[in-house]
Amino acid sequence: LTATEQGVLDEIDDEGVDFLRLQFTDILGTVKNVAIPARQAEKAFTDGIYFDGSSIEGFVRIQESDMRLKPDPETFEVLPWRNDENGAAARMICDIINTSTDEPFEGDPRYVLQQAIERAEEMGYEVNFAPEPEFFMFEEDEDGRATTKTADTGGYFDVAPKDLASDVRRDIIYGLESMGFEIEASHHEVAEGQYEINFEYDDALATADNVATFRMVVRAIAAQHDLHATFMPKPIPRINGSGMHTHMSLMEDGENAFHDEDDEFNLSDVAHSYLAGVLEHAPAITAVSNPTVNSYKRLVPGYEAPVYVAWSDRNRSALIRKPAARIPAASRIEARFPDPSCNPYLAFAALIQAGLDGIENDLEAPDPIRENIYEFDEEKREEYGIETLPTNLGEAIEALEEDEVVYDALGEHVGPKFVEAKSQEFEDYLVDVSQWELDRYLETF
Ligand code: GLN
Ligand code: MG
Ligand code: MG
Ligand code: MG
Repeated sequence: LTATEQGVLDEIDDEGVDFLRLQFTDILGTVKNVAIPARQAEKAFTDGIYFDGSSIEGFVRIQESDMRLKPDPETFEVLPWRNDENGAAARMICDIINTSTDEPFEGDPRYVLQQAIERAEEMGYEVNFAPEPEFFMFEEDEDGRATTKTADTGGYFDVAPKDLASDVRRDIIYGLESMGFEIEASHHEVAEGQYEINFEYDDALATADNVATFRMVVRAIAAQHDLHATFMPKPIPRINGSGMHTHMSLMEDGENAFHDEDDEFNLSDVAHSYLAGVLEHAPAITAVSNPTVNSYKRLVPGYEAPVYVAWSDRNRSALIRKPAARIPAASRIEARFPDPSCNPYLAFAALIQAGLDGIENDLEAPDPIRENIYEFDEEKREEYGIETLPTNLGEAIEALEEDEVVYDALGEHVGPKFVEAKSQEFEDYLVDVSQWELDRYLETF
């Protein structure tokens, strides 16, 4: 055993952990876990834990159903909502090994992200990411099912007593902190019942792990208070939806490769090219970073979510914003289109590969747009050369299939599986008849 693995065994003893959850995600980003008695931890490190992958969304290619979980000891954490006098449960995030080849399983989203990070490393960069996940908390009905009734009536940055859910949010933050999160800020968002919790940036893999964990913790702790937390992008029409702004920067030799003192925006050539790469591939990236039918109900004008492919150092209607940075280390760009229903591993992989493509091809970013782009008409957008994001999941999937860089970012296994699953989802939606249609037409015709 390595020292870190031995450390995990010691902690299991010290904390009285009796169950271990071995955690991974399927290609849709759903967290899965296999629970084992904690006394099997040593065996999990030495031999791995075998499981049948055929029941996991997007995993199997018939002959490859035997998989092995290889726990990453760095990710060991006691679960705060499962820690009492009856014992504690802990989790570790796992890599997935294909048992027939003994190689990493290509269908593992964590592996897809590791590939993108590896490419960055070959180019001399380390990748840092910081997300800003937003979510709603709703009341449950008598049967414990989620409603869309909000638990408070606060507004942006409001404080108690209007913000009734702040106790829950405090518990969520304590829970996250006990799991090693560095919370930077937490506030009520624009909409009623909507919140945002920001945590410290980290390397892209740790941040993707953190997003998966974050969603699990928020939902579990909200549920303890009989509230339903949801990361659905647009649960209520005609008010703000939930985004997951994603801040990105590259480090080279321990310095921020995105910073340049002499540039008007304090962005280096590397940053400009990375930004240009993300803009260039944005329509295909949305299929991954905004992967549900509902995602496209958020990407409409007027609710602080982007619709047009442009960047800005000022306004928040753009797809990418350059936030003001007080120190060189903080120079970064913020992609404002991703939403928290995405698989963070795949979405980050798509963003990184698009950005690296921009660097490799020396793409040049267009000028920033400083006006409110929502107010541009088509003519003005044409004059500025501003494209529109896909308006629905079907268009996004088409853009993905046409974009080699982003499609290849997903790898040979996940690419086709992802397109298949998402095309099916969009077709299901197209044949459905919504409440809106019934309200509008049933009595009219
Ligand atoms: N909720 C907005 C979105 O959908 C963002 C609002 C904000 O953070 N200023 O992206
Ligand atoms: Mg924010
Ligand atoms: Mg926000
Ligand atoms: Mg933001």
